[in-house]
Amino acid sequence: MLLQYETSLMAKTSGRAGKGVVAEKEALNQALLFWVSTSLRDLPWRATRDPWAVLVSEVMLQQTQVNRVEPKYLEFVERWRTPQALASSRFSDLLKFWQGLGYPRRARNLYDAATQIVKFHDGKVPRVLEELLLLPGVGPYTARAVMVFAFEARVGVLDTNVGRLLARWSGRSLQAKEAQQIADELVDAGRPWLWNQGLFDLAALRCTKQNPQCVGCPVEEWCSWHGAGPDPSLGSAGVTTKQGRFQGSDRQARGRLLKALTAGPVPISEAAMAMGVVNDQARVSRLIADLQAESLLTVQREVLLLGDLLQ
Ligand code: SF4
Repeated sequence: MLLQYETSLMAKTSGRAGKGVVAEKEALNQALLFWVSTSLRDLPWRATRDPWAVLVSEVMLQQTQVNRVEPKYLEFVERWRTPQALASSRFSDLLKFWQGLGYPRRARNLYDAATQIVKFHDGKVPRVLEELLLLPGVGPYTARAVMVFAFEARVGVLDTNVGRLLARWSGRSLQAKEAQQIADELVDAGRPWLWNQGLFDLAALRCTKQNPQCVGCPVEEWCSWHGAGPDPSLGSAGVTTKQGRFQGSDRQARGRLLKALTAGPVPISEAAMAMGVVNDQARVSRLIADLQAESLLTVQREVLLLGDLLQ
């Protein structure tokens, strides 16, 4: 599959007779890294290689926008500087802190990951893919991000934006495995951290979903699409996932109840009102059961409590 990509790359660059794919990859890397030297965003998690801070930032960035993550990240790493610090805190404190970030299941996973890191890894975030993948809430993307951004491993980090960029580069829709292979293949051997951060920013700032700025794009020479014709990233693996509508959703109802619980216990009889769910007791009961199963709330004698207040 990589051969197809390389063939496409060779076809695109055939005017550069004699250079070959490796030489073109080097030229591409140089072009990207030159652009990076003046365009890389100044983000707080880029100022550290501390594996715990990197893991925290990546978990937060999984489903929340950069501008909302920034202040919460800074507050978090000041408050819980190590996995030990988080693991020895009350989970309910983390849940209160998590307000505004959304998707609180990530807080549960992060808390459980901290506990596992303390228990099985002597308090140190592991650096090996297989061990990272065993941590709660850590999938292939997050594991690779930690490997690169904390340990400078030579692997590609494939998020939604980078997947879109690679599909456009290749001129066709890509399967997840193939996109990962391409990302791994193209990583600059000497600067994997910078390469991956640069690809993130190029994809997020320039090769955007709706309005890619192809004129003057630093890697336009190696791109198969150029913004003309059907977008090859549509339908590509991991690229077109849409978030469901928030208004009226279970996510909104769950968030409302958890927010109410940060202020104090809520009687089950008042849960529907706290959630904003009208005339649907079955739905209210289901949402409470789900939150309980995820250890995000506790039920005690017809009263709901946040997280692990009983522990
Ligand atoms: S030329 Fe356009 S589509 Fe290609 S990588 Fe640059 S911005 Fe994206």
